[in-house]
Amino acid sequence: MDEIPRTLLEAVALYADEQRAFERVRDRRWPNGVACPLCGSVAVGFMAKRRKWQCNDCRKQFSAKTGTIFEDSPIGFSKWLPAIWLIANCKNGISSHEIARDLKVTQKMLGSCFTESGSPCKRAPLRS
Ligand SMILES: [Zn+2]
Repeated sequence: MDEIPRTLLEAVALYADEQRAFERVRDRRWPNGVACPLCGSVAVGFMAKRRKWQCNDCRKQFSAKTGTIFEDSPIGFSKWLPAIWLIANCKNGISSHEIARDLKVTQKMLGSCFTESGSPCKRAPLRS
């Protein structure tokens, strides 16, 4: 079911499987069913091989990363989720800048996707 990792190690282990990590992201982002992030339509077709959807209304393709800071990054969900977990669970807060730096991605997304990031956490143990 919906396991919640308690440590970063658990998060890494739990989401090591790319498919599992992908499903987790999908269910989190679209708890009521996938909708096109570009036009809002729910008439979308899933392409399992590429883990992408095609919108039947605006005809655009999108992924669970569309509109997030990882949109333009080849980074996998298996890496992304532990980072998100870290943001949500670091007691002192962690800045999206630090995550972005550690994962070598742009900062564009963390802010738009996750609101739980707080003040910078200087002791973040994250290493990509
Ligand atoms: Zn659309």
